[in-house]
Amino acid sequence: MDQIAAHSPNLVANHDAHFEVGGETHEIPRYLFVGPKGGDTPIRVGIFAGIHGDEPEGVRAVIQFIKLLEANPELAAGYYLSFYPVCNPTGFEDGTRHSRSGKDLNREFWGNSSELEVQLLQAELVSHSFNGIIALHTDDTSDGFYGIVRGATLTKHLIEPALCAAEKFLPRDRRSVIDGFRARNGVIRDVYDGVLSAPPKVRPRPFEIILETPQAPPVYLKECALAIALKTILDEYRKFIAYAPNL
Ligand SMILES: [Zn+2]
Repeated sequence: MDQIAAHSPNLVANHDAHFEVGGETHEIPRYLFVGPKGGDTPIRVGIFAGIHGDEPEGVRAVIQFIKLLEANPELAAGYYLSFYPVCNPTGFEDGTRHSRSGKDLNREFWGNSSELEVQLLQAELVSHSFNGIIALHTDDTSDGFYGIVRGATLTKHLIEPALCAAEKFLPRDRRSVIDGFRARNGVIRDVYDGVLSAPPKVRPRPFEIILETPQAPPVYLKECALAIALKTILDEYRKFIAYAPNL
């Protein structure tokens, strides 16, 4: 991504988010993709991957998605897209779900966590006041692609087209219970406490979507499914923003 950023008029790398674990310095890499000008105010969306270190699918999907945007910047028209491709750098290095301190970082948000990665990401979530938050995950217990929605009411209108688009590459998980939660047409509305999310008191709530790819399919299909779902969410949300002033 740094190689892309070095030659891109749209992509900016930011390597200032450092933290120390066990005497070693680590970094949560951050990238900003500035889309061509759209409406008045840029729409700020945060895209997070690799918070579970053993889920490289999301990390690679972000890279594929950035390449897609580089080739077609108009896909990001009107957007400021903040990418956090590796939210759990020590877990990613070790190939473990948890960070090196032994914590599942995706259960630690907004609960006074002492985990430095969580504190850094919380600071990003506060300072950027995102209009939308998308997190990418892998589920090794599912045979299909699915999503989890939270936040703004319109979120449910974003997930269905995204799952439809992903179905070109991977089947949808249509079970009535996924990961212990009730599900319908591949959509879950509940989550574990402490997942990466908007600051609790923020109003209006941004849209919040978690995309889950099954682990078993070939790498290429997983990356395409996640990337096309991201593209579709941006397309659909832009339509809402354009329509909203006329309501
Ligand atoms: Zn995960």
